[in-house]
Amino acid sequence: MASPEIEALTQALARIPGLGPRSARRAVLHLLKKREAALVPLLTALGAVEERLETCSTCGNIDTANPCAICADARRDAGALCVVEEVADLWALERSRLFPGRFHVLGGRLSALEGVRPEDLTIDALVRRIEGGGVDEVVLAMNATLEGQTTAHYIAERIERFPVRVTQLAHGLPVGGELDYLDEGTLAQALRARRPVV
Ligand SMILES: [Zn+2]
Repeated sequence: MASPEIEALTQALARIPGLGPRSARRAVLHLLKKREAALVPLLTALGAVEERLETCSTCGNIDTANPCAICADARRDAGALCVVEEVADLWALERSRLFPGRFHVLGGRLSALEGVRPEDLTIDALVRRIEGGGVDEVVLAMNATLEGQTTAHYIAERIERFPVRVTQLAHGLPVGGELDYLDEGTLAQALRARRPVV
């Protein structure tokens, strides 16, 4: 039986996505056994992030600075804007290091079922960013779900009047994917998006 403090720590960790009670107990035990090597550095890192946590007022990224490190980086291509549903999507694309431009986080996707309307997302702010000029390409990097694609179509219509190239992520075969195992939707997309052999 653990003390209330240790129990509270375990419960807090267990609520973190990807952990759960069993992993949380193991993590807590590790932190308690490695006070100097694990607990203290974690505490310092958490405190530093908590103190400076900000949502970027330009793109919606979460960082310890506003504007965020991406928006503040002058080496990035300000002409290319990648629109994503969530911060997690931005981070995933960032990990690939393949997109040299900047981002715009919508904060979700349109959903009739969940009652998410255009005004619940940062679509107006996106339109204002494009209106402000300097953007030549908008990449709609929504999820390949019905709601993601509905959101992409809606945004494409809203920004039609601007002289920008609107592109979308290709959907198709996953790397390492075998045709036999793919669902029909993925296969159909891959076939539609086929390109010449170089
Ligand atoms: Zn930003």
